[in-house]
Amino acid sequence: MTTHVPPPVGEISAISHFAAVAGEPQPGRQLDLIREAAPGFRAWFRGTGMPDWVGTFDLVTLPYPTRFGLFRAAISPAPYLSLTHRLVVVRWREPDGRRRVLLFEPTDVELARRTPYFARLSESTPAAFERAFARPLGDVMGHLRSVGIDAKDVDWITFDHLHTQDVRRWVGTTEPVNDISPAAPIAPALPNARLIVQRAELVSLESLHPLQVPWYQASTFTALRPAALFPIDGDVLIGPGVALLSTPGHTIGNHTLVVNTESGIWASSENVIAAECLTPEHSRIPGVRRYTRTWEQEVVLNANTLEDTARQYNSCVLEKSIVDVARADSRFLQFMPSSELTGTVFSPGTSPTFTHSGIFHGTLTPTGATPR
Ligand SMILES: [Zn+2]
Repeated sequence: MTTHVPPPVGEISAISHFAAVAGEPQPGRQLDLIREAAPGFRAWFRGTGMPDWVGTFDLVTLPYPTRFGLFRAAISPAPYLSLTHRLVVVRWREPDGRRRVLLFEPTDVELARRTPYFARLSESTPAAFERAFARPLGDVMGHLRSVGIDAKDVDWITFDHLHTQDVRRWVGTTEPVNDISPAAPIAPALPNARLIVQRAELVSLESLHPLQVPWYQASTFTALRPAALFPIDGDVLIGPGVALLSTPGHTIGNHTLVVNTESGIWASSENVIAAECLTPEHSRIPGVRRYTRTWEQEVVLNANTLEDTARQYNSCVLEKSIVDVARADSRFLQFMPSSELTGTVFSPGTSPTFTHSGIFHGTLTPTGATPR
């Protein structure tokens, strides 16, 4: 039995519960190891505490191929379904009273549209389709202002993975960049923020595989301020009840935000696009329940890249094994997809049975009320 020592104040510390999973090459055995380790992780994680506040903010709705989002399970003839992509803001206090702010999925929506996949879609689709599916709902800086969080108070930013991301305006560059700042380096909009990213994800940007190319903007990562990058390897505790767990598969360097709240443990990533994809036996999306029963599968993957399919399946089981049941409906789990399936009349047969629309916890006390 391993003993888990609490981390030093204000430091990111490694979590070792799932270490054996990373070292196991055989996917069936990995699954057993995940199920064995999950209860111990849950008990330990609850004991690390809770953040003060978690809030969620809509950024954009976007079109996404139905056969990617619901893999082979949905029978809808609609080629595209609709996802709502959201920002999660987490604030906590270190034991010494110092406040910390983490932004999960602070997507620069304007620059994300340049991702090869979206750029092609936008060129090839009529304006009406764009209006129906691709609707901006807010931006990161506007959302932060709306809740009184100053840009300089953001300590950490992270994404489940780097598909579509361009973080240059958030963390700044060391040199001018031709496309958006040809005369001078970009000054960081979040001057104190560091990007927590799995080293494996950064390394994959250096030499993309054809399966990865449509989804990344790799060239935008070459001139970032080095001080703004915080590479990690595997599972880490960032604050009380705030962790990132390595969940590879969708991408090699994928990770999942895990938070402990008043309603129990939540997780968020893009491994699936609806909570019901983790409990498909309760899904009313046509085709989903029958498909998973026929194939004896317990999750429905978000399957656009299939970099490592069995590993992604196992990561979904990990997410499923560590979270609590949803308070609003016990058939579903407290898993909030970072891009969540959203019903629309333009896409019949893809409306979700249940949606979370965000993770909400605690009270946001104004900055400056206590010493930072
Ligand atoms: Zn992705």
